[in-house]
Formats: sequence, C-alpha cells, structure tokens
Amino acid sequence: MARAKNHWTREARRQLPALRAWRAAFHREPELSNQETRTREKVLRALAGLGIPAQSFSDGFNGVIGTVESDRAGPVVALRADMDALPITEETGAPFSSKFGGTMHACGHDVHMACLLGAGAVLTRNRSHLRGTVKLIFQPAEEEGQRGGALPLLERGAFENPRVDYVLGQHVAAEVPIGSVGWKKGALMASPDHFEIRVRGTPGHASTPHQGPDAILAAAEIVTGLQAMVSRVRNPVDPVVVTVGTIHGGTRHNIIPRDVVLTGTVRTVDPKTRVQTEAWIRRRVRLLAGSMGASAHIRYRHGYPVLVNNPVATQRVVDALAIELGPDRLVELKYPGMGGEDFARYLERVPGTFLRLGVASPAMTASSHSAGFLPPESALVVGTATLVAGTLGLQSEGRG
Ligand SMILES: [Zn+2]
Ligand SMILES: [Zn+2]
Repeated sequence: MARAKNHWTREARRQLPALRAWRAAFHREPELSNQETRTREKVLRALAGLGIPAQSFSDGFNGVIGTVESDRAGPVVALRADMDALPITEETGAPFSSKFGGTMHACGHDVHMACLLGAGAVLTRNRSHLRGTVKLIFQPAEEEGQRGGALPLLERGAFENPRVDYVLGQHVAAEVPIGSVGWKKGALMASPDHFEIRVRGTPGHASTPHQGPDAILAAAEIVTGLQAMVSRVRNPVDPVVVTVGTIHGGTRHNIIPRDVVLTGTVRTVDPKTRVQTEAWIRRRVRLLAGSMGASAHIRYRHGYPVLVNNPVATQRVVDALAIELGPDRLVELKYPGMGGEDFARYLERVPGTFLRLGVASPAMTASSHSAGFLPPESALVVGTATLVAGTLGLQSEGRG
C-alpha cells in the first residue's frame, strides 16, 4: 500500500526515547556468542512492555521470537536481529560504553535489536495495516561463524506455526551513508569457509637440509601456490578470496622443524565456485607439499552459506522503501561483500532480502569490528522505519 513519504519514519521517530534506551542497555552489557543471557532477558522484558507475546527456550539457547498477530491471513514475514557482541575493548567514549572489559557491540547488533523492538512497537500500534502475522526473531551467535544461531532457531521451528513466507533483515553498513539503505539482488555476502593445513617434513639440523624435506619451505610453496590459484585458475569476474592468516612453525634459527601449521579463510559468492574451490585447494595443497617431499593434512571447515537475496522480494522491499525514504536514499550495491552472515540460512528456506543500513558519517569513520565503531543514533529511526515499510511491502502483493 502506497503511503506518504516518511510516514513510518515519523512513527519511528516517536519511538526515539525507547530506541535510545534499548540500544544503550544492549550496548552497555555486551555478551559474546551463545552467552547472550542478559540480552535475552532485556529482549523479553521489552517485548512484554510492548504487549508482544514472546517465545524463548528452556534449553540454554538464547533466541527469542516475538509475534505481532494480524486479523488477516496474508503473508507471514519474519524480521531478524542478531544479538551477540565481539571480544574487543571499547574505545568509543560513548556514555553507554561497555561495562564488560574486553567485550563490545562493535558490529551494530545492539542497533539491530533496538530497531527490531522499534518495528514491533510501530507494527503493534498500527496492526490494522498488517495483512499477515509478523515474527520478530532475535537470534544469538551470528558471530560464531559455523553453526551460528540461525540454524538452531530453524531447528526449533522458528519458521513454523505460522509458516513464514518472507524474511527481512538488515545490518549496519559503514560503506553506505547515514540515512540511506543499501540493497542488492542476488549474492550479497560470501561463504566464509576456513582451513587448517598441517605440513610435515623431517626435523633436523639447519646445516643439513639435504637429509629431509623442509616443512617451512613446503609451507611457503603452499602460501604462494594458493595465491597463484586465485589469480590464474579462478575466473577473475567470479570473486574468490584466499587469505592465509596464521603461519606457525619452528623454534630456533638453526633447527629445521617437523611441522608447520597454516590457517586461513576462503570466501566465494557462488555456491558452485565454493565447491570447486575447496576441491582445488585440497588437491593443490597435497601436490605442492608432495613436490617438496613433504606431506600435508588439511582440515577444511564450512562456514555460513552464500547469502543470496531473492530478486522479487528485494524489489518489493525496494519499492516500499522508495516511497518511505525517497528513491535518492536507496543505494543499489554493485558488488557483493566478502564477509559472511548466517542470515543466509533463512534465505535458503524462504524468499527475502538482507539490507545494508547506512551508518557512514563524517563523525564516525571507524569500521565495524573495531574499537571505535559507534553507529549514529539516527540509524535507529531509519532502521525501524525500514523494517516496518519493508514488512508492509512484502505483505502488499499476496503470498509469493
Ligand atoms: Zn560482525
Ligand atoms: Zn554483524
């Protein structure tokens, strides 16, 4: 339904004192992945205060699902915010800085939760606009990287009773200006896989290298060979990132060590490329080590899937946001980012879209996952309005 520009933004702005208080409460007491117990209690208290029924779990899992019911039986939309923080010591100087040394909401999940509560408040007050039920999904453990929090929620029936038709989420984005929202159809974020390679040679005196393969030299060949794969084997217009992040081996300048251990990450944005790249790395690592007379054992772990936005659902949300925010506030992103997100798991099940909520401003130049990251307060209003307008957009065309 087409409404006047800034209709939901004005509604969201009325919630600003509450948005501010929620955000500050989350930010002050950040909790790492799968430890979000205080955060869960705060979410449950806030939902109760808004009169929104909520489901939580008694098995130690910290997810919360609020439900805003509609009288109409139209499309069910799930909105998702992540809950966890990072092991970083805060340096923002904000009055609501982290009370917990060494832990910080440096990825904006405090903002995501406040916006989701704000959307719950606005939608509850404007229930007559809804054409179907809305689920407010508060998800732990996004930063955990492997099992994450989306999968445990789905296993616990988060998308059933009633069955979810569309999913919508957002993440603060330091590359999009404050007040704007970034969007993209298709692949938006990468699959972040990682590996550990143990290279084994023959230990010995550094003065007698001829007596056995040198694990350090073999490891060096592997590091170089992996980059040669990226530049010479992969299609340059289908991005692949391979980064060796650690390399450990040896104890002394005149000893050839037995083992060298490399760890690293592999990012791809096409599920087929992901499979091919893993096979290629496994084979190449063995061959490179073998060519130096050494052996290599690789442990390859899968992170989250590629995050793929559904084109039809994305268009509906973008159309609604063009009315709400104005077309000049929408930024179509040309390229996917190489970070990962377990929102991808929801998008594997139902159509939907993941948006980039702009937070870039001259006053805040720090990137996310850094000690100075503090999204401006106005993002709370835009983020709330975005979720509300996006929900109504997804519900406007009937079941997809
Ligand atoms: Zn993060
Ligand atoms: Zn994040």
